[in-house]
Amino acid sequence: MTDRESLGSQSLDLKRLVEACTRRDFLKLSGMSTGALATGSLGAGALLHSEPARAVSTNARIVIVGAGAAGLSVASRLNRALDGADITLIDRREDHYYQPGLTLVATGVWERSKTEDRNARYVPSGVNWVHAMVEEYDADNNRFTTDEGETIEYDYLVVTTGLELRFDQYEGMSADRIGSNGIGCVYDNPDHASRTWDMVDTFTREGGKGLFIRPPGAIKCAGAPLKMTMITEHRLRQHGMRDQAEMHYYAPGDGLFSQPDIDDFLKRHFPEERDINIHWHHTVKAVDAENKQVTFESEEEGEYTESFDFLHIPPPMSAPRPVRESDLAEDSDDGWLEVDQYTLRHKRYENVFGAGDICGVPIGKTAATVKAMVPVVTENLLDVIQDRECSAEFNGYTSCPLITEIGRAILVEFDYDLNMVPSFGFIDPQQQHWIPWVMKDRLLHPAYNAMLRGRIS
Ligand SMILES: Cc1cc2nc3c(=O)[nH]c(=O)nc-3n(C[C@H](O)[C@H](O)[C@H](O)COP(=O)(O)OP(=O)(O)OC[C@H]3O[C@@H](n4cnc5c(N)ncnc54)[C@H](O)[C@@H]3O)c2cc1C
Repeated sequence: MTDRESLGSQSLDLKRLVEACTRRDFLKLSGMSTGALATGSLGAGALLHSEPARAVSTNARIVIVGAGAAGLSVASRLNRALDGADITLIDRREDHYYQPGLTLVATGVWERSKTEDRNARYVPSGVNWVHAMVEEYDADNNRFTTDEGETIEYDYLVVTTGLELRFDQYEGMSADRIGSNGIGCVYDNPDHASRTWDMVDTFTREGGKGLFIRPPGAIKCAGAPLKMTMITEHRLRQHGMRDQAEMHYYAPGDGLFSQPDIDDFLKRHFPEERDINIHWHHTVKAVDAENKQVTFESEEEGEYTESFDFLHIPPPMSAPRPVRESDLAEDSDDGWLEVDQYTLRHKRYENVFGAGDICGVPIGKTAATVKAMVPVVTENLLDVIQDRECSAEFNGYTSCPLITEIGRAILVEFDYDLNMVPSFGFIDPQQQHWIPWVMKDRLLHPAYNAMLRGRIS
């Protein structure tokens, strides 16, 4: 039996999920009235906001930079909410990846094709799609240039360019190392996720020493390095190889997760129940792929080298260069878009908004955050177009189905205050459970696609 077939036998019956829900929870879960699957992990925050009953008339030129999760969703909502506006979307990328599914590809649960889509399916008719990348912003003059040499002017700008993976910050490392010499990284694209699965599969059949890295700074889906660690450990057990493998997790600070209850859980769970050694205050300096060695810098041990059989190495992340090097950036090395954390309006350029991973807000960088941010951004932009104060506020909602093993996860949902904000009364936000697994495996992808079409309320 293959791993994917064996997973099928573990798959959980959706009927059981329905039976476990109250009617109200289920309506929320399925989002039946809106046609969207407003499921937990793509849920709560956005339920507070609704679209205006009538379209707002304007001839404003609105440019959205980045056609990823946030950009497509903003474009769809604005296209419906405005009458007469000139809406442009900029992005050369034709492919759309369902990034939350990459963890399942990199652990052999999904085929990569399940995460591959086309942006053209989601760009609303009526929105002008410019197939180019922004090269340089000139926010003082409400314009930017593209890498095609075109200058585009705007009245309002929405920046949704996601983030840049900075493999360059590890000496000797580049994305093309993924998938050979035992090196994996879930973070780049379906191809790299699939190659990572090849590395995980070999490691979990042969055993050896597995090193799992959490890079420093803000990263998208901060749960992904943890999920990769725990699912790999589960795969070792499935193959009867757990006692043939050592597992080590390297954290840049003294925490594993920003939400304190989950942090406490993981700090017990890793060493006590999974035999995973945690190394605090460690950052990667260099990777020697040929010799399968990593050089760490550690507060206590200084600089030292460790060998590996398998290495999961997500890179540090920052704003993409054009934002990072522009006047739109906050004053930090990572150069995130300097927005107000509640209104998502730029702090200095009042006609500029941001949504998604690019935003310099204290927590977030998940698709669930995008879902909560987009209604806030569109509502506030509509306010500004109508000469009103911003009326909507983003509460910091973020969420992650933290997969602890195949078939079980914890549905973690929290806000700026790091308080748990569970969407569903029937799921304990601190317990491993099969329902969040079913959500991750079956329900969140349709919810995500509905979000791209702006069908969230
Ligand atoms: C492995 C992995 C697991 C994840 N798991 C989860 C999960 O379980 N739950 C969850 O909620 N989230 C998860 N996420 C996070 C989620 O996918 C992201 O937070 C979300 O996609 C961010 O959307 P975005 O629109 O900000 O960026 P993206 O979707 O990355 O889109 C950014 C777009 O901007 C474009 N762009 C960049 N620069 C320019 C430029 N200069 N000019 C024009 N266009 C530009 C890019 O081409 C891209 O199309 C995961 C992500 C990964 C990688």
